[in-house]
Amino acid sequence: MDCLFCKIAAGEIPSTKVYEDEQVYAFLDIEPQAPVHIILIPKTHIPSANALTEENAGVVGHIYAVAAKLAKEQGFAEKGYRIVNNCGEDGGQTVGHIHFHLLAGRNLGWPPG
Ligand code: AMP
Ligand code: ZN
Repeated sequence: MDCLFCKIAAGEIPSTKVYEDEQVYAFLDIEPQAPVHIILIPKTHIPSANALTEENAGVVGHIYAVAAKLAKEQGFAEKGYRIVNNCGEDGGQTVGHIHFHLLAGRNLGWPPG
């Protein structure tokens, strides 16, 4: 499949890996928006949050658990962080494989743009 994040998860396109297991791959964002900017993706191709169902949505909970583990390991759990999923054009999604941004290391503004 011609999908950038499928290729990254398969190791066909290089990335800086942060974490990997059977279900999830996590890597550094190429254009970081905060001192910590990690992208977490399911290894299976799910195009966006719009494509989540009762059958495939379990991996989203697992991704949040992995994010919590990385936050503790990398020392920003107490200070705080933000997990972001952009969906569709108005949501600012630019890669058509569901992904979660894990942002930390600075005070993140609210509301988002
Ligand atoms: P979104 O705009 O929510 O679809 O997020 C896509 C993210 O993927 C952006 O933050 C990009 O900087 C990031 N990105 C795009 N290509 C790569 C790549 N080859 N390696 C790492 N991150 C990437
Ligand atoms: Zn994909």
